[in-house]
Amino acid sequence: MPIVAFGLGSNLGDKAENLRQAVIQIEGRIGRVTAHSALYASLPWGYSSENTYINACVAVETHLPVEECLRITQEIEIGLGRLTKSRDGYQDRTIDIDILCYDRLIVETNELVVPHPLLHERLFVLEPLAEILPEWVHPVLGRTTVELLKTLTEPA
Ligand code: ADP
Ligand code: MG
Repeated sequence: MPIVAFGLGSNLGDKAENLRQAVIQIEGRIGRVTAHSALYASLPWGYSSENTYINACVAVETHLPVEECLRITQEIEIGLGRLTKSRDGYQDRTIDIDILCYDRLIVETNELVVPHPLLHERLFVLEPLAEILPEWVHPVLGRTTVELLKTLTEPA
């Protein structure tokens, strides 16, 4: 069965509880959670806010196609009180669920880009992802998550 990895983030309300609820719903609607990272604290990325983030990643075994995973995670976001999408820049949110990777599948449509285009540039994504899928090889960059993390933290 394919493995899909989700990046979770929250910077409003009970952040750890928002992540926990998201994982429960992912487990109920998408598939079995095979790995869960630790919770990581991070600062808002790409915009300024006094509300810091909690981030985590989960790996899930699923029989659903990746487009269906996106549709369901967007429903979960709305159900957990996510009010607006990021259009004109980033905003505070109760929950953000991004699809980081789906096996070594490459998707590039208007609605969905997989692997997530900023995965290799964000420490708050790569750190938890490397914790749960250290050997996953990025299908475009040809590097493992551990290698990508090293590149980000030890610039040449
Ligand atoms: P962001 O996560 O960048 O803050 P949003 O969560 O508001 O932004 O998502 C904006 C749009 O990004 C979604 O409507 C979705 O169609 C699109 N998108 C493209 N690729 C992905 C992906 N890998 N995971 C989640 N959403 C994605
Ligand atoms: Mg998102």
